[in-house]
Amino acid sequence: MKITITPSAGKKARPSDDKLGFGQVFTDRMFLMEYDPKQGWHDARIVPYGPLSLDPATMVFHYGQAIFEGLKAYRNPAGGIQLFRPMANMERFNRSADLLCIPRFDPEFALLAVKKLVDLERDWVPSAPGTSLYIRPFIFAKDAFLGVRASSTYYFLVILSPVGAYYPEGFAPVKIWVSKSHVRAVKGGVGEAKTSGNYAASLLAGQKAHDQGYTQVLWLDGVERKFVEEVGSMNIFFVVNGEITTPALSGSILPGITRDSVLALARHWGLPVSERAISIDEVFSAHESGALTEVFGAGTAAVISPVGELKYGDRSITIGSGKVGPMAEKLYKSLTDIQYGRSEDPLGWIVPV
Ligand SMILES: *Cc1c(COP(=O)(O)O)cnc(C)c1O
Repeated sequence: MKITITPSAGKKARPSDDKLGFGQVFTDRMFLMEYDPKQGWHDARIVPYGPLSLDPATMVFHYGQAIFEGLKAYRNPAGGIQLFRPMANMERFNRSADLLCIPRFDPEFALLAVKKLVDLERDWVPSAPGTSLYIRPFIFAKDAFLGVRASSTYYFLVILSPVGAYYPEGFAPVKIWVSKSHVRAVKGGVGEAKTSGNYAASLLAGQKAHDQGYTQVLWLDGVERKFVEEVGSMNIFFVVNGEITTPALSGSILPGITRDSVLALARHWGLPVSERAISIDEVFSAHESGALTEVFGAGTAAVISPVGELKYGDRSITIGSGKVGPMAEKLYKSLTDIQYGRSEDPLGWIVPV
């Protein structure tokens, strides 16, 4: 399939690198392709960024058949641009598609489209420390129809947004609220898909966490509400007796690429690692005995997010005196050094644009 490129209408003013937030500014162009049962994925094009015109009956508005991905383009010290494990995102995107009855696409072609778009927009990749160009591919149901079924037509888009440093004031721990009353996903559901409805369903618990001064929710399993699953947009790690441990992928946890990278790096370093069921009671008793030394989240946005406090019911614990632990620090530095091309790429993760 060919990608048609429409000349960009004009250049928007680019905010300076120190004024970038997250997901507020978008570049001059976007990628678009469409699906129908006759032609499959077709009409791939890069066009000026702008609104879509959609029928009010468009199925995505009513039944939420939509999936997305999130990855970043980084500027390396030589001024070049590189992606971090982009094929892993494309493969996960197709697995999300399967769970939502969305037709699969050719991951090689989708990566080519992302690279072409980023290449055309390369001036938009910021260069100040910690900044990057966030890449958001997404697919949604396009039929104008009010019956409940899978749509027969779809849109596949990629938009780009320059984003600021996640830790402008330095690498700092966050406070996390463990929800007893809300659950994110259940086994047999769509928890392992990056699908819009999972995020809509998480908002109320997120608000309750915020109201009490916590930044994110730590979800427990949807059945027993006993085992730790993940945070809103990050997977979770614990360091217990020197071992790096994270909940095993159970079917209701999003299989994070940062999660996988943390496990791979730790194994590459020869550190003890485990993926298993971890109950919230075990976390609290490991804290009591002194075995729990660190807790941190892992996801594309923050890379590593150290957790300084966990609140569960009326119990609250401070981890590592509320300071950033050595494992979180080492992983953050190593992963970002690879992503930004400041160090070797021992596991072959970097794809140049
Ligand atoms: C995207 C996401 C993650 C992290 O995945 P990465 O590939 O590491 O960015 C974790 N949990 C949820 C719910 C997510 O949506």
